[in-house]
Amino acid sequence: SAFYVGLDIGGTKCAVVLGDDDFNIYEKVFFETKVERGPTIILNEFKQHIHQLFEKYDREKLVKIGISCGGPLDSKLGLIKSPPNLPGWDDIPIVEILEKEFGIAVAIQNDANACALAEWMMGAGVGTENMIFLTFGTGMGAGLILNGKIYSGTNDLGGEVGHLRLADDGPIGFGKAGSFEGFCSGGGIAKLAKSTVEHKLKNKIVVGFCPTVEDVDAITAKAVFTAALQGDQVALEIVKISAEYLGKALAILIDTLNPECIVIGSIYARNEALLKPLVYEVLKKEAIPEALEVCRILPAKLGDKIGDYAALGVAMQ
Ligand code: BGC
Repeated sequence: SAFYVGLDIGGTKCAVVLGDDDFNIYEKVFFETKVERGPTIILNEFKQHIHQLFEKYDREKLVKIGISCGGPLDSKLGLIKSPPNLPGWDDIPIVEILEKEFGIAVAIQNDANACALAEWMMGAGVGTENMIFLTFGTGMGAGLILNGKIYSGTNDLGGEVGHLRLADDGPIGFGKAGSFEGFCSGGGIAKLAKSTVEHKLKNKIVVGFCPTVEDVDAITAKAVFTAALQGDQVALEIVKISAEYLGKALAILIDTLNPECIVIGSIYARNEALLKPLVYEVLKKEAIPEALEVCRILPAKLGDKIGDYAALGVAMQ
């Protein structure tokens, strides 16, 4: 059978996978993005891993490379255009670069769209006509499946919901204070936690999961959720603020698009027990009741595999 190479470019992790038409995965390597290294070094790391696959597998069988990456990007021109979570990636012609290097076709899609298709075909959204997928990783993006088709907008900006401003002030996401990405993505929650904890420590309030100011810089969304699950009050406070805005954003999406389900990945999927009741409290107040009634809020089903399937799906399209 034919083989495809999938590249998943995330703000925190990157992966290279090799799979076939049936989404069987034969090889996978991943590495930390460490965005501060910039696009050239990260691209070189990708190239090295792909070269290794080309050495190991029959070149004739390697049909195409698919890339799943955070936007904004231009899928037709094959350009990555300054994604907020990949600083320095300004107008990178990644498709051309890889086509030249490897001599095979390359395609790129927004990660949220690619993941939406994966969850729709194989995960929590199977059988639905109208589904929204939210990434909820380092960034926050939406993939929209409307009337049984992916909707990517006029110039690939459909579903850039991270940009929605939910409050006049708040953590910065997508270069915008108080945005959905600011309050609710992994990167945003870390920023929210850092400012909240700093403020508490200054006022001599004990923060169990971050006892001193020296520890503030290292706070991650993951650490906040772990502490919240263990009952840490400050961590819970941060989770509640974030969940409140998640609820508000979900209500906007439900009222606008009247979907059958909203499938949420990564951080939500791992912390559903904590987030779901908090989110529903808001939804009951904010969303049109009849629209809420028909909409299921579901954790993504594909787990760690979602990025692999998403990238391979882009190659197969
Ligand atoms: C980007 C989206 C992307 C999301 C998740 C956001 O910052 O604007 O395009 O889907 O992050 O990576």
